[in-house]
Amino acid sequence: MSKRIRVIVSGAGGRMGKEVVKLVLEDQELELVAAIDRSAKDMDAGRLVGLEEAGIAVTADLEAALASGDGDVLVDFTTPQSVYDNTVLAIKYGVRPVIGTTGFTPEQISELDKQCQERGIGGLIAPNFSIGAILMMKFAAQASKYFPHLEIIEYHGDQKLDAPSGTAIKTAEMISEMRSELRQGNPKEEETIEGARGGYYNGFRIHSVRLPGIFAQEEVIFGGYGQSLKIRHDSYERAGYMPGVKIGIQKVMQYTGLVYGFEHFIE
Ligand code: NAP
Repeated sequence: MSKRIRVIVSGAGGRMGKEVVKLVLEDQELELVAAIDRSAKDMDAGRLVGLEEAGIAVTADLEAALASGDGDVLVDFTTPQSVYDNTVLAIKYGVRPVIGTTGFTPEQISELDKQCQERGIGGLIAPNFSIGAILMMKFAAQASKYFPHLEIIEYHGDQKLDAPSGTAIKTAEMISEMRSELRQGNPKEEETIEGARGGYYNGFRIHSVRLPGIFAQEEVIFGGYGQSLKIRHDSYERAGYMPGVKIGIQKVMQYTGLVYGFEHFIE
């Protein structure tokens, strides 16, 4: 009997999904049992990601793959429109969800937690699988206790729709849990060009840079008397999320209920 964790990937033809398929095919501890994607239907999953033939044809039928009983874990990188139903379906068939797709409401998360508990399986929703980004957030939150004056600058490609990024918002939230309320800067400050000081969050500012050629970067700058501290994380490519995805796949096999946020796995 195989001891490898059997993985189903949905959104296998997408930018993140392809990295996951590659990860699973190349990792000795994981086994790809199904790859789901509508546009790449019938292609060989190995060929889809530029590897040699894997002998697994991409299918569009997620429910059939889940119902087959062959999968231990579903990894989903699809769209906010489809991910909730995919997750409910996975739990129904006892397949542990590891979800990277963003866009869940707090109500959906608590409902999915309930379903995981009832089914007796683990699940994970992680809006950011990057270990470096999680560490940056944790270090920044810790530093804000001693350096409460700070600004966040995040950098992404120019086609990104939302600003600030989800990671910047999460960083701001984690900082706000540690740092006492403090409105920074000169109370008489005035912007002569609107937006020059960035977005306001709990007393500090968040700036969003959007330029072609950038993938994802964020820095938190702290200012103190006679000194400054910068904590910065740079992501260069999607493969950087995969060590986190693998940890997620392994962890969901070990507990019951839904964990929200990869930071809970980084002590
Ligand atoms: P993408 O390249 O657009 O891929 C999306 C995939 O979803 C495609 O394979 C698409 O294939 C599939 N899809 C679209 N509509 C679907 C539907 N209704 N039902 C089933 N499948 C559907 O997107 P991406 O850049 O890989 O990002 C995917 C998600 O991951 C986004 O929510 C993004 O924000 C998130 N993300 C998370 C992290 C993290 O660390 N957690 C990192 C990066 C991105 P077909 O339409 O051909 O089926």
